[in-house]
Amino acid sequence: MTPVALGEVRIDRIVELEGLGYEPTYFFPEATMEGFAAERDWLVPHFWDAAADTYIRAIQGFVVRTRRHTVLVDACVGEGKERPSTPAWNGLRSGWLDRLAALGVRPDSVDYVLCTHLHADHVGWNTRLSGGRWVPTFPNARYVFHRAEYRHWETHGDGLTGPGAMDGAFVDSVLPVMAAGQVALVDDDFAIDDEFVLEPTPGHSPGHVCIAIQAGGRRAVLAGDVVHHPIQIARPEWNSRFCVDPALARTTRRRFVERHADTGTVILAAHFATPTAGRIVSNGPRCKFAV
Ligand SMILES: [Zn+2]
Repeated sequence: MTPVALGEVRIDRIVELEGLGYEPTYFFPEATMEGFAAERDWLVPHFWDAAADTYIRAIQGFVVRTRRHTVLVDACVGEGKERPSTPAWNGLRSGWLDRLAALGVRPDSVDYVLCTHLHADHVGWNTRLSGGRWVPTFPNARYVFHRAEYRHWETHGDGLTGPGAMDGAFVDSVLPVMAAGQVALVDDDFAIDDEFVLEPTPGHSPGHVCIAIQAGGRRAVLAGDVVHHPIQIARPEWNSRFCVDPALARTTRRRFVERHADTGTVILAAHFATPTAGRIVSNGPRCKFAV
């Protein structure tokens, strides 16, 4: 992804995995192959592999640098985590931290870690193994989690099965940061300076938030998993199989698409494949994602 510049704010992505997704109608249970085919003219080549007849997705985080702060948004799967439900994640060693270093960001220079939500593919790098214990990867960072999201996983445990399950992610990637005293549980009104504000977007998970960044007269939204794949810009009624509250997830996604359509806002979602950054634009009766 070409870095996104909003005035003096710069946004880069750090890719952990990228490639073909699951069976489309497995991951999006309400989807139809005909529905994907109808949007193929703009999904191919970045987001749909015509030869394999399936979708393309990434797992990535973003680093946002302002004049004052270095902020990491979403911490991917992580290194050496036991995730037996998802073979591609199990014991993963992806070099993600090296790619962060290549951008000139050392772990001790990160001021904030924001997780859009606490699913296993968004919290992994919160911790790393040191002396047989999971410890915070970013020793000087304040880790920001939405209170409703934290309380949900604290009281409901893993609650997911099959590929993509938590497999203990809350225990190995969230609780150690809490124990280290580095967590700020926040509500909808949290902001960093004048540049970062939360956009509450519950449904995919109970306390899911997007992070809106406004600077230099431009606006970007780090969208997490409100939209997993660009097809959901055209079909906001299609949930992923991991949307905790399906009805609310649909409503939130529709509103998200309506709010940002034809506004020029740069959308950066956690699983949109290269080139990742784009805008929501009208496309006849629906919308599409334009890169
Ligand atoms: Zn995700």
